[in-house]
Amino acid sequence: MYQKFRTFATARKVRKNASSVNAVKFTRRSLLKRSALFFGASAIQTPLELLAEEPEAADVWAFASDMHIADWTTATPEHNTRFQSAITAILAEPVKPRRLFLLGDNVASGTQEQYHRLLKILQPAVESGTGIHASLGDHDHRENFQAIRTQLLPPPERKDASITHIVRTEPWQDGEVKHLEIIETKRANFFVLDSHDKINQEEGKFGKNQLDWLVAELDQRKEKPAILMAHHPAVDIARSGLADSAPFWQVLRTRHQVKAYFFGHTHFWIHYRLGRVHQVNFPATSRCAPLTVLGWVLLTLYDDGIRLTLKTCDSDNPRNGENVDLKWV
Ligand SMILES: [Zn+2]
Repeated sequence: MYQKFRTFATARKVRKNASSVNAVKFTRRSLLKRSALFFGASAIQTPLELLAEEPEAADVWAFASDMHIADWTTATPEHNTRFQSAITAILAEPVKPRRLFLLGDNVASGTQEQYHRLLKILQPAVESGTGIHASLGDHDHRENFQAIRTQLLPPPERKDASITHIVRTEPWQDGEVKHLEIIETKRANFFVLDSHDKINQEEGKFGKNQLDWLVAELDQRKEKPAILMAHHPAVDIARSGLADSAPFWQVLRTRHQVKAYFFGHTHFWIHYRLGRVHQVNFPATSRCAPLTVLGWVLLTLYDDGIRLTLKTCDSDNPRNGENVDLKWV
């Protein structure tokens, strides 16, 4: 544990002192080598292809989850201050993330006031050009979120022309509404899905309309890796998972371009693989849970995989700076 702490503490120190892109590159390489030494090459999964290729500044992205932003009715103001600190840290990164993805339970109970507070916390990111894309969790309220959604995108003069953003919020024929987004980028397409079913009902559901839409959209984008995300884990667990996990998996299993599924909800920071699809459970950024870390995650996108870097809310946490390298299968 001491060695692990010393490894990341040293890397952080170097990164803190980095004042140029070259210095940042050196730090990343140093961190990779040091991590491989400590964890062992097979455990850390550091493919040579990742080592050989330097990341482009444009391919860094940020993720936060389970912020549970409070209003005057909820006695958890620390959720707001933690997320505010996370936003400050994200914007202070040597390579500023292109976009910030929120993986749901963005607010505590879905009130308009909570979304206004969320928007206020996110304002510096929006103004700086790091737009926000959000998935909805069981604590969210779809209509109240929709009221602020367009204000989360960067102003026109700061928009990144290399990103294509597609939004689907219109009702289907039966009146059902889901909040769906596709973010097309150079190396991968991000799909923001909507597993929110009913407010404050823990179990989530995609529904047939959404799964049909997903099939059609994936089939039009076979040429690039697809990274899918929503709030719920893709398993049906004791009324707190995804009610229609079986048909969802049928979609993923049969489409080779789907490389990863990201989610929150459990507040655990874990990753595993089902078949060839990487599953990443992101930690809560604001709301504590037993045996978990609080933090946000930086994602660096490569041609053949991703690097996820944990940034804990408590910077002295020994897991701060922990890397997970996932190669596309
Ligand atoms: Zn949840």
